[in-house]
Amino acid sequence: MASVKVAVRVRPINRREKDLAAKGIIKMGGSKTTITNLKMADGLTGDSMRERTKTFTYDYSYDSSDCKHTNFISQEKVFKDLGSDVLKAAFEGYNACIFAYGQTGSGKSYTMMGIPGDVGLIPRICEGLFSRIAGTTRRDAASFRTEVSYLEIYNECVRDLLRRKTNDTFNLRVREHPKDGPYVEDLSKHLVQNYRDVEELMEAGNIKRTTASTGMNETSSRSHAIFTINFTQARFAAELPSETVSQIHLVDLAGSERADATGATGVRLKEGGNINKSLVTLGNVISALADQSQDTVNTNLKKRSLFVPYRDSVLTWLLKDSLGGNSKTIMIANVSPADVNYGETLSTLRYANRAKNIINKPTVNEDVNV
Ligand code: ADP
Ligand code: MG
Repeated sequence: MASVKVAVRVRPINRREKDLAAKGIIKMGGSKTTITNLKMADGLTGDSMRERTKTFTYDYSYDSSDCKHTNFISQEKVFKDLGSDVLKAAFEGYNACIFAYGQTGSGKSYTMMGIPGDVGLIPRICEGLFSRIAGTTRRDAASFRTEVSYLEIYNECVRDLLRRKTNDTFNLRVREHPKDGPYVEDLSKHLVQNYRDVEELMEAGNIKRTTASTGMNETSSRSHAIFTINFTQARFAAELPSETVSQIHLVDLAGSERADATGATGVRLKEGGNINKSLVTLGNVISALADQSQDTVNTNLKKRSLFVPYRDSVLTWLLKDSLGGNSKTIMIANVSPADVNYGETLSTLRYANRAKNIINKPTVNEDVNV
């Protein structure tokens, strides 16, 4: 049993917020994150004061708002804490998953993919995987196989981001294997031998990823992207062949803001509605799992077997194992530092707070005598 790990990360103030003369409302210290509602009057004491600021505790509170601060959290540090956990899990034969959650423009893609010259978790994890493979000694007598796939969920349709021909990439079916669970039928899987192979695929996939501009952010993405690494290790243990298989999902979720906050109408609004379906379902799944684990902790309550609505959206169905199942899972909640985003940021902090209560059941995926 292992709780989902939750990190909150605040990005630097951006141009738009500066132009609006926005003020910073997020403070971090240790694992705590505090948000202030500037709309409430200054100088209040007692109960009113407590209302004005809210403090949450997470596994990590990452202040990336100012690179000149002594406690600034770099991409490297995020990788050292969270990416290393994922690599360790993979080599031990566990499944792992990282979700990036937050409103459009909060830093999800920056955290997961990064920018040229300061790459994020996905490239660092892939690079780390290959350098660990290269560092494996002959004595370990192990062989490794790494395959990657990359898809996006847009309007509840699954699209392959790595297939070269475009006509057969839309609307792939999600099916369920009796033993291995949900999977995407006909999704291309690419065998990779080194980091350069991954880099090429990632770049091609990122170009394909659907982006559409909304009133909120030019480069906002209305889709969920899932980069998956299938990592197999074969070795002889006590002269018997054994194989461990680990699946790693690295997920860049669509913006969590409500469609109406972006001034969206028409087609865009419909997209918003569908994206909300996956996000609302993700929220419902998280709530159901959090309630369930609270019941388990509270032993004098009769354990309810709450229904978890995994099948209500493509996202939650595909990532069923990562949510309350066989996986070591991490959620990174990304937020803006600015008062103009108070409402969205508070809702992200609450969402992340709920996710802390999820308890997963990771097990080593080992087949002896394969
Ligand atoms: P999202 O994917 O959540 O919509 P992005 O990752 O695209 O948001 O971030 C929005 C903008 O802010 C981008 O220009 C990105 O480079 C920048 N940004 C986000 N997080 C950081 C950070 N921690 N440090 C520096 N720049 C960041
Ligand atoms: Mg993005």
